[in-house]
Amino acid sequence: KKIIITIDGFSSCGKSTLAKQMANELNYVFVDSGAMYRAITLYFLRNHINWEKTEDVVDALKEINLEFQYNDHSGKSDMVLNDENVEVLIRDMLVSEHVSEVAAIKEVREFAVDQQQRMGKRKGLVMDGRDIGTTVFPRAELKIFVTADPAVRVERRFKEMYEKNPSITIEEVKNNLEMRDYIDSNREFSPLRQADDAIVLDNSNLTRDEQLELALEWAQS
Ligand code: C5P
Repeated sequence: KKIIITIDGFSSCGKSTLAKQMANELNYVFVDSGAMYRAITLYFLRNHINWEKTEDVVDALKEINLEFQYNDHSGKSDMVLNDENVEVLIRDMLVSEHVSEVAAIKEVREFAVDQQQRMGKRKGLVMDGRDIGTTVFPRAELKIFVTADPAVRVERRFKEMYEKNPSITIEEVKNNLEMRDYIDSNREFSPLRQADDAIVLDNSNLTRDEQLELALEWAQS
């Protein structure tokens, strides 16, 4: 029986990696909900939207079309914003600096959550994010809450970003993760928190394969 699997947790705990691997193993669809908030942020930045003004946010959202497009090369879906593949651009530090502020806006969340819930009409879905097991799919059959030591998380994200931008520093990455986690946990609308029925997965000392094996056992039991 196909189910809905939610994977939530703080930034850079390896949620997307796990979600992607699980989807591949189970032949499920994988949705990276953070990519949607990142794409909205990219649109706001490019178009100089003043996101402190609700009216401007509402008008801007009407101009945004988000789609996922499967990429054979990476084995996951790329984020497409108004027909432009923005998968690489949305991982920029500039977007990372503003995404949590944008994701805290009520109208932005409603816009994204509505689309996420529609993707859940078809079972056989793994979605990762911050509020997927709480707000988006409160009745999901399997909820995983991923955690990892802060130092491990900084190191992982740094390696990932350094490959694309060798001028990045550990300090910058650490500050960005701490800031996002703080805003994500303390915002008014669906803050990051662990669902009561979520299983906690601490992967600080697990390899990717070990964590995948554990999670697959949960999915199949
Ligand atoms: O998952 P990722 O780190 O790419 O997410 C970027 C940002 O998007 C998070 O820091 C958070 O502010 C926001 N986000 C969210 N709710 C989700 C997924 C992401 O608020 N379900």
